[in-house]
Amino acid sequence: MNPASDGEPTGRVRTVRGDMAAAAIGRVAFHEHLLFDLVLPANRGSVTDPPITPENRWQIDYRSNENRNNARQTDPGVAAAELIAFRADGGDLLVDQSTGGLARDPEGLRQASDASGVHVVASAGTYCADYLDEETLSLDLAALTARFVREVEAGLDGTTVRAGLIGEIGCSWPLRPFERRALQAAARASRITGAAISVHPGRHPDAPFEIAAILAEAGADLRRVVICHMDRTFPGGERVRELLATGVNVEWDFFGIEQSHYWFGDIELPTDLQRLALIRDLTAEGFGSRILVSHDVCTCTRMTRWGGHGYGHLLRNGPALMRRAGLAETDIDQLLRRNPLRHLAFADPAPLQES
Ligand SMILES: [Zn+2]
Repeated sequence: MNPASDGEPTGRVRTVRGDMAAAAIGRVAFHEHLLFDLVLPANRGSVTDPPITPENRWQIDYRSNENRNNARQTDPGVAAAELIAFRADGGDLLVDQSTGGLARDPEGLRQASDASGVHVVASAGTYCADYLDEETLSLDLAALTARFVREVEAGLDGTTVRAGLIGEIGCSWPLRPFERRALQAAARASRITGAAISVHPGRHPDAPFEIAAILAEAGADLRRVVICHMDRTFPGGERVRELLATGVNVEWDFFGIEQSHYWFGDIELPTDLQRLALIRDLTAEGFGSRILVSHDVCTCTRMTRWGGHGYGHLLRNGPALMRRAGLAETDIDQLLRRNPLRHLAFADPAPLQES
């Protein structure tokens, strides 16, 4: 398989229920969280925050990081119901990018996939250092690489459920020593397994460039790397072309967040149509095959059960918005199906010589 090509997807995708042909898969939500806990471990104890109700859901959603009940969803039954809604919107496969530290639940993902019939891909790797235990933080590069490879080839967290993607690898700003090792381990594990890499960059405009350099030096094929969160890192599209010039792929994954207020910092977020205007321009410039779109749902208020847009917003409302932005039908299919499947299809292993 040529990972840089832009035709019908070929190769195999690794779901929580087994491997399958990429060509047999329909539309994809590439960067989501189905079962997760985004509350920092130090704050996870007994939670007395109010439960989400119709009366308070707007305010909880507006300041999404504050109510801890909003930042976790650990019930496979709820996940299955959300997947059934996703399927009704035309969704066929969803990637849960909850990596180590985010209460990753591989068996729960398999249950939700079984119950809904929607394909689910689980993720190898680790999230930001603040979410990790001392034992994980102490792993050296060789041990971390071995863990990531095992997660793809044998199973995640002591289960037989295998990962189909490495990441989102969590990076802070400034980058922590562990996170640098995790990027290097992801590069090596990607070469060994053929799985692609997804990276959550720190919230500084220089972060994606530092990450691309570390991955390249560690031997990653940057055509198999997706840098997430363009929406908040370059809200007006600043430096996206400079980032594309490094060889990586770029992802807008805040679709459905139609408010300017960003709860994690002093940033004015774009709307869906503003995201799509940037994507249209980049597509016209020939970058269409290197763009990923998703919702990165990681709060309850964005799920249908709690009055949110759900995992199907891009499928339900996206095509009309994309046409309005000036994208063609083939561009829409590329964004919603071909691009994510090309990253999910495993490349041929190409391990580096150990130095
Ligand atoms: Zn995410």
